[in-house]
Formats: sequence, structure tokens, C-alpha cells
Amino acid sequence: MADSSNPLAGLDPEQAAVVTAPAGPLCVLAGAGTGKTRAITHRIAHRVRSGQVRAQHVLAVTFTARAAAEMRARIDQLGAAGVQARTFHAAALRQVRYFAPRLFSGRDMPELLDSKARLVGLAATRVGVKIDGTGARDLAGEIEWAKSSLIEPADYAVAAAKALREPPFDAAKVGEVYAAYERVKRAQGVIDFEDMIRAAIWAMEEHEDVAQQIRSQYRHFVVDEYQDVNPMQQRLLESWLGDRDDLTVVGDASQTIYSFTGASASYLVDFKRRHPAATVVRLIRDYRSTPQVVGLANTVIGQARGELARLRLELIGQRPAGPEPVMRSFPDEAQEAAAVAARCGELVAAGTPAEEIAVLFRVNAQSEVYQEALAEAGVPYVVHGAERFFERVEVRQAMIALRAATRSADADAPLTESVARALEGVGWRPGDTPAGGAARERWEAVAALVALAESMPALTLEAFNEELARRATLQHVPTVAGVTLSSLHSAKGLEWDAVFLVGLAEGTMPVIHARTPDAVEEERRLLYVGVTRARHTLWLSYAGARAPGGRPRRASRFLPMLEPGRAAQQGSGRHAGAAGRGLGKAEVAARVRRTVAVSCRVCGAGLLSGAERKLGRCAGCPADRDEELLARLLDWRARLAAVQKV
Ligand code: ATP
Ligand code: MG
Repeated sequence: MADSSNPLAGLDPEQAAVVTAPAGPLCVLAGAGTGKTRAITHRIAHRVRSGQVRAQHVLAVTFTARAAAEMRARIDQLGAAGVQARTFHAAALRQVRYFAPRLFSGRDMPELLDSKARLVGLAATRVGVKIDGTGARDLAGEIEWAKSSLIEPADYAVAAAKALREPPFDAAKVGEVYAAYERVKRAQGVIDFEDMIRAAIWAMEEHEDVAQQIRSQYRHFVVDEYQDVNPMQQRLLESWLGDRDDLTVVGDASQTIYSFTGASASYLVDFKRRHPAATVVRLIRDYRSTPQVVGLANTVIGQARGELARLRLELIGQRPAGPEPVMRSFPDEAQEAAAVAARCGELVAAGTPAEEIAVLFRVNAQSEVYQEALAEAGVPYVVHGAERFFERVEVRQAMIALRAATRSADADAPLTESVARALEGVGWRPGDTPAGGAARERWEAVAALVALAESMPALTLEAFNEELARRATLQHVPTVAGVTLSSLHSAKGLEWDAVFLVGLAEGTMPVIHARTPDAVEEERRLLYVGVTRARHTLWLSYAGARAPGGRPRRASRFLPMLEPGRAAQQGSGRHAGAAGRGLGKAEVAARVRRTVAVSCRVCGAGLLSGAERKLGRCAGCPADRDEELLARLLDWRARLAAVQKV
């Protein structure tokens, strides 16, 4: 058996080439599940273990706290403990904290802003713009894009027009709010996430001694998910590097899902041009998913259009066959969630660990109904998305109670005891598990803090509070064993045995504000990211209305081509490149026929159940229209005949 702690074991030839490539620029271009993260993790471990580099000189950067933690754990297992694997934000925060007295004239680092939207609202009022909560969030998004793209307030309007942005109102006015936001922030002595990265850059650009100290600490750089780097993060990376080039980047242009916040795959795509000496390796074997899932993923991305479409990479499935992906439609969201929860329960009962299951959705608001349904079905779950965990009222209350308890706590009583006692003061009891719904969710959130305390018994209550504050800043959510509920964005890089992609209706996927063709393409890539998270079992579903009797919604425009069976026809994972390209006329016609045959005559939704197919329309769509007329309208021959008659 291969030695799982040997960095050179268990790799294919291309992955081995990544691991053993010489020092210097290296770029790995490959599709989802091809082992990019595995290859760079093994590369780091191999270089450390063979003495080429020292663990403390390596900085590996990725985009989510969870991905960073997983990478660290894997490198440790491979016998190269001590390597730093962090998100850009965490790395910048550490650096700025360390140098804070020097950078902020002897003062501590300013507090991090807790709600950007609130301050943006205030700034808008200052320049005479009236906005509601949604408007403030949209505007905060625009400001985040501008700052991540290194665009100053005065240049916002021109840059936004060039980038085909759709600001919520007049671009010049948005620029004014942006400028006012910066002023308000300064006056309140707080900084936002982008400022933290800017401060890290500025520290090195303005202070040669700081730059030297940082560069002597970090000498070898690795960036995972490089397709999603934004200009500000790229500049930070360049500042770290100085005039050196020991940099490994890996990415997949087809998984670019952050361009709306300023990320650009161009750094990945142009890497070789900017580093002519770079070694470039391509990986093509997909080790994560069954051929059925790989086939479906290929179909999704095979239909991509636009600039990044030509960069999609061929995937060849390596795993044994599994079940066909399942596609379902439901009358409303509650029924969809109940069916998903029931299926999760069945999988758990049949032996799939709950933590090997994920329910992924496009917008966080969709999470609520799944939390209720899972609680109702008695299936444990954990909401992934730290921002929300530490924003929860009960978590904030618990943290306040824990801080207050340091004054009265019996010094070093065991940590778990002090924590439990303090939390009982705010009404939480260990065995008092509410049956379900929101109360259960609140209980679970506080229980996660207790579990965290149990995992670090050596800490004092004071140190534990500091640890909580650090995690809140870095958005490290305590892990709880259960079905993961996550947005598609936070799921990138991760994998589960069973994945449920839910709410795939027009308006949520693509999301309603994806109005430009580029924005729709980003949504398609997001779906590709979702599909490729599944190792074995994949479920796609949508509801024909949000609530019973609500306004009818269509199936996502991405779904009709993903009909069961069609993915398998794409070959056992051989890249379909397929859909649409190089197909004979007869095959194209057959695909179109199949699509039409399964679409609702009234609303055009493409995923009908067996009974609905017989009806020829969704169960939720009205039947009292002139069906014959509708049928004729939807049948091009009938339409042609009608035109000829006229
Ligand atoms: P993503 O684009 O989603 O980030 P990735 O390219 O980083 O995917 P990994 O997460 O590294 O892919 O690997 C996907 C899965 O395949 C993991 O479970 C990994 O352990 C497994 N894997 C990778 N390479 C091999 C290999 N040579 N043999 C067996 N399993 C492998
Ligand atoms: Mg990866």
C-alpha cells in the first residue's frame, strides 16, 4: 500500500511533475477535481521534507478559512508541519497587527468595521442620497469592487463605465458616496477588509525595513484558486515577492466566480506571459467524481460562452460509475426542502455520514427553509458561512456573557465548566435541545461555542475569549458534525459524497441581478462549481413557486440540457466540449426535440415530473388557457403555418 505520508506517493505523472518542478514560477491549469490542491500540498511537503525549503518560509494562500485549515492539516499529515496556509485576509491581518505600532504611530490596529452596509448608508445620507437596506448593500458591493480593483473614488464613474458595471444609481453619485464612506470610516477610526489588505501593501511599499523583514520571513509562495485573485490581492502578492519569483499558482478559469467583486482570471491566464520562465502543467484526470457527475459538469461548462469559455479544460473521469444525477421539480420551496431533508435522512440512515452531505444554494436567504426542514426531519446540520455565525444575536450575547464572566470566573475551574456556567446565565442549558426550527438553530450555535471550548481545554477563559475574537475577525466557524448548508460561493474547493443543488429556478440561478451576458456566464460557472463538489450522489431541484399559490417561476435556463441520461450520453466523463460543438445536424435536432418535449408549454420550465410531462405543463401552471393555441405558439411548424396563412 502507498505510504500516505510520502509526498511523492499517490500521484499521477502530471501531478508528480508539479511536485518535483524546480524552484521558480510554476502554473498549474486544470479543471475541477483534478487534484490541483492535492498536487500543491504535496509539492510544499516534498520541498520541505527534502530540505529544499524551510517550512516557516512558505506561505500558502487560499480564499476560504476552511480551505486554508484543510491545507494546513494535510501538509502536517505529510510530515511538513509549520507551513503557513492562510487566506489573503488572514495573512494581511497578521502582518498589519504585527507592525501596527510602527504603522499607526504607536497605536494599536484600528478596529475592523462590523457592518459595511450601515456605514455606507450613513455616508449616502451625508451626500444627500436616500437608500434602503438593500440599496446600501448594493452600494457596499460597488465600493468593495472599486477598492478591490484599486479604483479611487474620483475614478469610479469612468472605471465603472469601462467595466460595464451597473451601479444602483448615477455613477458620479456612487463615486461621491464612496468618497464620503472613506471619510466617515476615518472619522470613526475603523477600517474595512479591503483597508486591511491595503495597509499590508502600504506597509511594504512605504517602509523598506518592513518589506525586508516580511520578505525574509516569506520566501516561497503558493496560491490556490488563483483564477479568483483580484488586483488588490495580486498587488499584495507582488509586494511579498519583491523581485523574487518562487511562486506556484493553480487555478481553473472555468471556476472564476468572483469577477463581480473585482477578481480576474487574467492573472492566471497571462501567467506565462508575465513569467516567461514559468513551468506550466495541465492536469486532466478527474479523481473526485463519478463519470455521471463529470459528464454533467462537462455539459454545464460545455455550454459556456464568452471570453473564458475557450479556456475550459477537458476532464476525464477516473472513478467507477455511480448513480445518475437526480433532477426534481416541486410546487413550492417548503416541499422542495422537505424532500431534500427526507433524502438526506435516508442517506444518513443508509450509512453516509451527515458531514459528507451538503445542500448548496445561490443566495443565503435560501438557507432558512432548509434549516427548518432538516431540523424537522431530525437531521443535524451546520450552516457554513461564518459572517453569519458571528453575526447571530445569540452568539454575540454568548460572547458578551463570556467576556463578563472573566471578572467573576473561578481562575482555571476547567474552561468547559466556566463556559457552560457563563452560558447558563444567558439561558442556555446543555441537555435542553429544542426539537427544531429557529430555537434549535440558536441552541446549536451556542453549543458550537461549548464544543469549541471542549476542544481547547488548556486555555483560560480569557484566552478563549481572545480566540473567539480572532475567529470572529477571520470568520473561522467552529465545526459541527452535520449536513453542510452553504452558499455555492463558499463551497469552492470543497467536496462531499452527496451534494444537493437546490433552488435552481430563474431569478435565483441565474440570480435576478445577473443581467449582462457576462454576469450570466459567471452564474453558469457557479453552477459548474456546484456540480463538481459531488463525489457520488448529485441532486438538482427547483420549486415552481416560492410559497404555495405564489407567483410561478421557471426552471433555471441552465437545466433543460442537463436532463438525466443526457449527461451519461456525454460519455463516461470524456469532455463533452460537446454540447453544441461538432455535433451532427441530426444529434442537434434530437437534443432540441428532447428539450422541447420536457418543457412546460405555459412557462417553459424544463424539468417536469412524469405526471407533468403527460399534462405537458407544470402542475403549478394554469390549465385554463387555450392549450391548443399555446401548443401552436410553441411549435415552430405551427407558427410557420400560421404566418403563411396570414
Ligand atoms: P477544485 O478545482 O474543486 O479545487 P482540485 O483540482 O483542487 O479541485 P483536489 O481537491 O486536489 O482537486 O482533488 C479532488 C479529489 O481527488 C480529492 O479527494 C483528492 O484527494 C483526490 N485525488 C487527487 N489526485 C488523486 C490521485 N492521483 N489519486 C487518487 N485521488 C486523487
Ligand atoms: Mg482545489
